[in-house]
Amino acid sequence: MPSLTLLEIALPTPLRRRFDYLPPEDMSESELQRLSAGVLVRVPFGHQEMTGVLIQTKTHTDQNIEKLRPALAIIDQTPALDSALLELILWAADYYQCPEGEALSTALPVLLRQGEAAEERRETCWQLTTEGKGLPAGALKRSPKQALLLEALQAHNKLSRSDIAALEIPATIIKTLTDKGIIEKTFADETTPKTPASIFRQAPLTLSDEQQIAFDQISFGQFQVSLLDGATGSGKTEVYLQAIAKVLEHGQQALVLVPEIGLTPQTIARFQKRFAVEVAALHSGLNDRERLDAWLHARSGKARILIGTRSAIFTPMPALGIIIIDEEHDGSFKQQDGFRYSARDLAVVRANRLQIPLILGSATASLETLNNAQQGRYQHLHLHARAGNAKPAEIQLLDIRGQTLTEGFALDTKIAIGNEIAAGNQVLVFLNRRGYAPTLECHDCGWLANCPHCDVRMTVHQTPRHLHCHHCGHQRPVPHKCPSCKSSRLQPLGQGTERSEIALRDWFPNTPIIRVDRDSTRNKNAMDKILNEVHQGEPCILIGTQMLAKGHHFADVTLVVIIDADAGLFSTDFRGPERMGQLLLQVAGRAGRAEKSGRVILQSHHTDHPLVQTLFFKGYQAFADLILQERQITQLPPFRYLALLRAETKRPEIALEFLKLARHEAESIFPSSPQLNYLGPLPAMIERRGDRFRFQLQFNSAQRKPLHLLLTQLVEKLDANALSKRVRWAVDVDPSEM
Ligand code: ADP
Ligand code: ZN
Ligand code: ZN
Repeated sequence: MPSLTLLEIALPTPLRRRFDYLPPEDMSESELQRLSAGVLVRVPFGHQEMTGVLIQTKTHTDQNIEKLRPALAIIDQTPALDSALLELILWAADYYQCPEGEALSTALPVLLRQGEAAEERRETCWQLTTEGKGLPAGALKRSPKQALLLEALQAHNKLSRSDIAALEIPATIIKTLTDKGIIEKTFADETTPKTPASIFRQAPLTLSDEQQIAFDQISFGQFQVSLLDGATGSGKTEVYLQAIAKVLEHGQQALVLVPEIGLTPQTIARFQKRFAVEVAALHSGLNDRERLDAWLHARSGKARILIGTRSAIFTPMPALGIIIIDEEHDGSFKQQDGFRYSARDLAVVRANRLQIPLILGSATASLETLNNAQQGRYQHLHLHARAGNAKPAEIQLLDIRGQTLTEGFALDTKIAIGNEIAAGNQVLVFLNRRGYAPTLECHDCGWLANCPHCDVRMTVHQTPRHLHCHHCGHQRPVPHKCPSCKSSRLQPLGQGTERSEIALRDWFPNTPIIRVDRDSTRNKNAMDKILNEVHQGEPCILIGTQMLAKGHHFADVTLVVIIDADAGLFSTDFRGPERMGQLLLQVAGRAGRAEKSGRVILQSHHTDHPLVQTLFFKGYQAFADLILQERQITQLPPFRYLALLRAETKRPEIALEFLKLARHEAESIFPSSPQLNYLGPLPAMIERRGDRFRFQLQFNSAQRKPLHLLLTQLVEKLDANALSKRVRWAVDVDPSEM
């Protein structure tokens, strides 16, 4: 009797094990022989159906063979994930202590997880309707963008979404002309994709000497990590573009990762304008079908460039030749729930396995990366000169101790804003708190508007008027009377962007005040509209949160005001000062980007704090060195390796008991020593959130390996303990938030 072939499958369950199945009943032996790892399989699981990933076929099982059930179907004979990527994800699941099936399902597009076939759709294009064809050349003159699209369609017959984006025509124009009956949707011609004569749509710029030196240091066709260190506007993207050109010329693909709020239509358009090859994008603004399409195009090699946020690191790209991570220090590269991976760190692993270069770009690199550069593991490339010869901004630290502030602004700050507007310039005001005021206070008894479900205060919002918890989403009306003493003297406490916006409108009634935060940009295209208005160059005041700090170019802003520089300095998270420095420098970097030189006013109660002084007068490198010294003394990353065991429950004593048990187990596996020690259980930074009490146990190790071994054994022990079923818990390896 021939031995039976079995399928070993990873399924998206919290169970840390694989499952064996018999092959689907209708499957022939020869089909079975051809099956390879990475294929998606539909299987019965309990009373449900699930999509799993085939890890291997085999001939014996540790499970009771009588009880094995047949798989339902092989979804597609072509593996969804090639073996290199499958191995990378399995490695990551092991490293981050995440069940394999969950890791795999995070890595796969939603539609594939749901069992959809991995088939490409024909690309949507636009063409002129009969009515549109009747329009004369030069029609629609009153809207230049509409005229441009009409003209392009008169010349080319059909245009794809990326063709249109490359012309810098916004999607709203497509809609307008469709509504007018001038253009209509169609499909791309069913031809094999034409290999363009040249990869370029637009000729590359001549690199500056400094860019050229940096570019020449990049070794193609081998593993190498380069930190490309340069401020916004120093020409990093141009170096990326030319490095990408190099791999495209070799028939390879390029993967570009950007922060969540950095992936704007402008970013994508910049790549599409340069290259005549297909550029695919993967980000949260797409629907599931669009995501699947981009993913499939990358996998088939049709898309030669993929630009995406964090999870794009898991896209199969058969001819990947380079990975680029822009703003590598950005927090959004680390996933904060489920599969808690760092896309930046996995990029290092993926590049290493593929023997390709990785470029990490930032003006304010993470301390991990800077340390790697200092240790010689990464090469450190510098771009100093600002393209276009703009001078660096002048920094003014404004000591506000004892000063009277109106609505958060010092008198000098107000005067400076007025002068700048009067001179016809734009001003950017940075305040990293959305809403009207951080909370509501009773003037008579000191009552504060706490969230009933969390240990945080509720934010006051004005439009519409309500109290909102930014941690659990709980909302309620603003009370008229103090719930505690019935006084009607309730007052908003502190400063939010809405409140500053109102104050600025009051002071500068003739100047447009433009607010940029999560609330004001919630609608699709809202950010585009705002950017368009600002790019007109008319005097205006931009007020907003960190959304203003990233990626956008505001050439006419000559004054940046930072209302409160102190927030991060005394944070209980050891990464607080690092993040504060990165954010402040990024905000400050928005000033004077083109011909006009800029100025930054920074209001602070701690102008003489060594970190603030160093940051602004000696620069980021010196600031980073200072923090690195501290981290070395206090035994924190990047000199040590951390992991957290996070636990939360409705009744605090259960999570605490669980973590005490975990510590006890850990100590019995690995007694605490200077090499590997434990801290906790301690309450999380916000102890109660959404009615759950949160605690954590911290592991601190001199090396990765013993920490990994310990965690693996510990997780196994915890899984086997009944208490672990009563707690929501997770391991967070290399946590970025404490
Ligand atoms: P970064 O990515 O560091 O913010 P960019 O590459 O976007 O910098 O460059 C900033 C501006 O300078 C862009 O408008 C870009 O077109 C221009 N630029 C960059 N490199 C050159 C160059 N070598 N020659 C001319 N202009 C350049
Ligand atoms: Zn009161
Ligand atoms: Zn809450």
